[in-house]
Amino acid sequence: MGRPKSSGKSFVEWCNENGQRGARLLLECREKDPSKLTKASHDKALWKCAEEKCRHKWRAQVSDRTKSVKPRGCPKCANRMPHSKTNNFLTWCDANGERGKRLLEEFCDTEKKPEELTKSSDYKALWKCLHKRCKHEWSATVASRTRSVRPAGCPGCDRLRKKDAPDA
Ligand SMILES: [Zn+2]
Ligand SMILES: [Zn+2]
Repeated sequence: MGRPKSSGKSFVEWCNENGQRGARLLLECREKDPSKLTKASHDKALWKCAEEKCRHKWRAQVSDRTKSVKPRGCPKCANRMPHSKTNNFLTWCDANGERGKRLLEEFCDTEKKPEELTKSSDYKALWKCLHKRCKHEWSATVASRTRSVRPAGCPGCDRLRKKDAPDA
């Protein structure tokens, strides 16, 4: 830890002025003496996630956590991308027209509901092809099906296509 800049608002003061968000940052800050930090400090402070299921400890610049545009949260929680009412596979399907509708129809997982997953989830869900000739069931990650570049389709249909293709 370098010495705090003499100028700039103190981190503790900033926390006290920023309601729930400030209270949480103050709770997560694991430096021995948070009052020595400034709000805009580039020093890497120690943090511990306040999420009960997480409790991850990591180092991040104070300024990265207090900035108003895209502040950094717990990296572990960010990786897990918790689903929410406005951010889940179901809302993604709703927002993606025909393609989303189709994915939702193909989704036939019994362990998880579409609203329990995110668009970029690594969870291997079960899918069932809608094509009458195919009806193939397979598992694939949600992320592999929703990505914008070369999303994964039905492997059964791929096989049928190859069979149908005239011999070269
Ligand atoms: Zn966390
Ligand atoms: Zn198929």
